[in-house]
Amino acid sequence: MKMSCDIVKDLLPLYLDGVCSNDSKAAVEEHLAVCENCKAESQAMQSSLPIKATERNLSEAEAVINLSKKWRKGMMKSLLKGILIALLAVAAIAVIAYVFMDFRVVF
Ligand SMILES: [Zn+2]
Repeated sequence: MKMSCDIVKDLLPLYLDGVCSNDSKAAVEEHLAVCENCKAESQAMQSSLPIKATERNLSEAEAVINLSKKWRKGMMKSLLKGILIALLAVAAIAVIAYVFMDFRVVF
């Protein structure tokens, strides 16, 4: 089966990942044996793919870690804010109660 370079280029990532069918694999190999362009392309892909994949995984992991750090910081901040607001509310109620009780005593 004769394949065009475009088809081979479409199949190359699958071929390099080893997830294409045996027929596709055989066809790609057949084409690579006779086409220098696609052969060079596949070699370029082969050498750049694993690095890119690791880099991507690393940055994704970093993003997740940063996100959970930020999230935890945000949680702590809102927790502290909540405690502060609760304390202020209690203090305000205490002051109001004190003032009203004072008034009652005065009047
Ligand atoms: Zn080709």
